[in-house]
Amino acid sequence: MTGARRHTVIVMVDLRGDDVIDLHTHSTCSDGTDRPADVVRAAAGAGLTVLALTDHDVVSGWAAADSAAQELGLLLVPGIEVSCAWQGISVHLLAYLPDPADPGLTAEMTASRNSRERRLERMVELLAADGYPISYEQVLEGVEPGATLGRPHVADALVRSGVVGHRNDAFVELLDPAGPYYVAHYAPDPVTATGLVVAAGGVPVMAHPFASSRGRVVPETLIEQMADAGLVGLEVDHVDHGPAELRRAREVAHRLGLLTTGSSDYHGTGKTVPIGAHTTAPEVLEQILRRARGMPLLGGR
Ligand code: AMP
Ligand code: FE
Ligand code: FE
Ligand code: ZN
Repeated sequence: MTGARRHTVIVMVDLRGDDVIDLHTHSTCSDGTDRPADVVRAAAGAGLTVLALTDHDVVSGWAAADSAAQELGLLLVPGIEVSCAWQGISVHLLAYLPDPADPGLTAEMTASRNSRERRLERMVELLAADGYPISYEQVLEGVEPGATLGRPHVADALVRSGVVGHRNDAFVELLDPAGPYYVAHYAPDPVTATGLVVAAGGVPVMAHPFASSRGRVVPETLIEQMADAGLVGLEVDHVDHGPAELRRAREVAHRLGLLTTGSSDYHGTGKTVPIGAHTTAPEVLEQILRRARGMPLLGGR
């Protein structure tokens, strides 16, 4: 039935020229520190009128965010940040308005989430073996049941046990992909994932494509292949892009005919970036909504 349903979804476009739009945020359903409703409250408090909730590999925050968005009069774009990997490089693919029941996309996200559990256990073992006072149970203590697990949860446990002062310090000192404690997890190839998002009626936008502070970035040839598979946009305005990376992202988007978005990648207190730090133009979101087939918009005003 999901196939039939997909073709019946028409996303009503109801944007205003003065909409303030943040298309990338996280809640406690993955590695953010605010519950979904609190992400929406933070958005409203910051003057945003349209918000996408894009937890890593999970849609469990959509319902609570929808209720809060209806109460507060915000439009909610249901989204996912799909974990992908290419030759050991982590790639994040934002998927807007995909059918949450689509079997192909769901299977890959479940595989990633399961692999993330084993991977975190292994990272904790490596850290503990080197004398860091941390256990897998301690990592889980601070995490909502069912949340997608990630390195930020290890970082939080290291903060709680006094090893480091903030998540960011843990990433710099201990959790870097080039460091001795990093373990990769299973994730689909970005080209395959792009096709799966499209097949689920969603609109794929590559997150922070040139954020080199996070580790190695993929070559432009891969982004070209993703574009051939249906990639619609690049997230250009992002706190992890330096000036040269911003320029490059803009150039590549222009060359490949891709939309350009901007967003905060808000993680609550898990990162210093405030919600709404970067925004997306209403005309760009309108293009995204026109391509969406998997889900209606949520929230309301
Ligand atoms: P993972 O997907 O488990 O490898 O972890 C990646 C996540 O870690 C990203 O989604 C970010 O939320 C977070 N992250 C990456 N670098 C940092 C940093 N320097 N400070 C805080 N969080 C970070
Ligand atoms: Fe994250
Ligand atoms: Fe990301
Ligand atoms: Zn993100």
